[in-house]
Amino acid sequence: MNKWNLIIDVAKCENCNNCVLATKDEHVGNDFPGYAAPQPLHGHHWIRIQRKVRGVVPMVDVAYLPTTCNHCDDAPCIKAAGDGAIHKRPDGIVIIDPVKAKGRKDLVKSCPYGAIWWNDALQLPQKWIFDAHLLDQGWTEPRCTQACATGCMRAVNVSDASMKQMAADAGLEVLHPEWGTGPRVYYKNLHRYTKCFVAGSVVAAIDGVTECASGVNVTLLKGDRQVAHAVTDAFGDFKFDGLDPDGGEYRLHFLAADRGAATRAVVLQESVYMGTILLDSEIPPVRSPEEAPAR
Ligand code: SF4
Ligand code: SF4
Repeated sequence: MNKWNLIIDVAKCENCNNCVLATKDEHVGNDFPGYAAPQPLHGHHWIRIQRKVRGVVPMVDVAYLPTTCNHCDDAPCIKAAGDGAIHKRPDGIVIIDPVKAKGRKDLVKSCPYGAIWWNDALQLPQKWIFDAHLLDQGWTEPRCTQACATGCMRAVNVSDASMKQMAADAGLEVLHPEWGTGPRVYYKNLHRYTKCFVAGSVVAAIDGVTECASGVNVTLLKGDRQVAHAVTDAFGDFKFDGLDPDGGEYRLHFLAADRGAATRAVVLQESVYMGTILLDSEIPPVRSPEEAPAR
């Protein structure tokens, strides 16, 4: 049987909040018996856009991460409810029963993703229901994806095998796979939010004039292991992305056979812009693997 999944491209989210507003428009003040009681006007973020700024000017980027209920296949909230107050439908959607869950404030903390909100007036835990009430009427997508300005948020109704293949082909990831919850919300370009980069601008002194150094080989090493290789662009800029912000110690080797070389060290706990790196024509060239003579 096909099941519902959400696919979100972090690189394309512009923080317009159309998805947030469409979901509020659908649920604030509206009762859908068997699916969800009305969402309060204030205080609940059934879809929440989180923000991450990386680097510093002139190499800075901002990523927006829409988060919501992941409709987990091995959902901690369902285990915590125990008595059917939360259940998973055959189509993958997880529903908090608006009658059975009354008074169950404890369920708010059962979600490790912080996707459940407490409705004080109704004494109910609540969350995004994938607009299951609309899908059951024949809608082909929930309000949030229909309203998404950039098309970065898509709902797909496919078999688990197809979804697994799509995730593998497109490099999709889920939030905190190490928790073993089996999320059905997948992200593309998640590294924009969870990983870091190291970048810089290389210059060289030629006849007493300092110029942007394009075409410089830049090798990133961790210990003796080459992690990545890049070549500076027309402005002398380079960037290595998708690195773990785990305090790892890296070395960077810069080499332009006709203009000199340089070496720098960096510790990555967050994204780093290394500033301007001047090639030293006095340093004996250290060849990168890409420049080593062919054997
Ligand atoms: S994200 Fe939280 S509320 Fe949603 S299914 Fe998973 S554990 Fe339950
Ligand atoms: S509607 Fe789309 S682009 Fe706008 S905030 Fe939501 S996910 Fe991002």
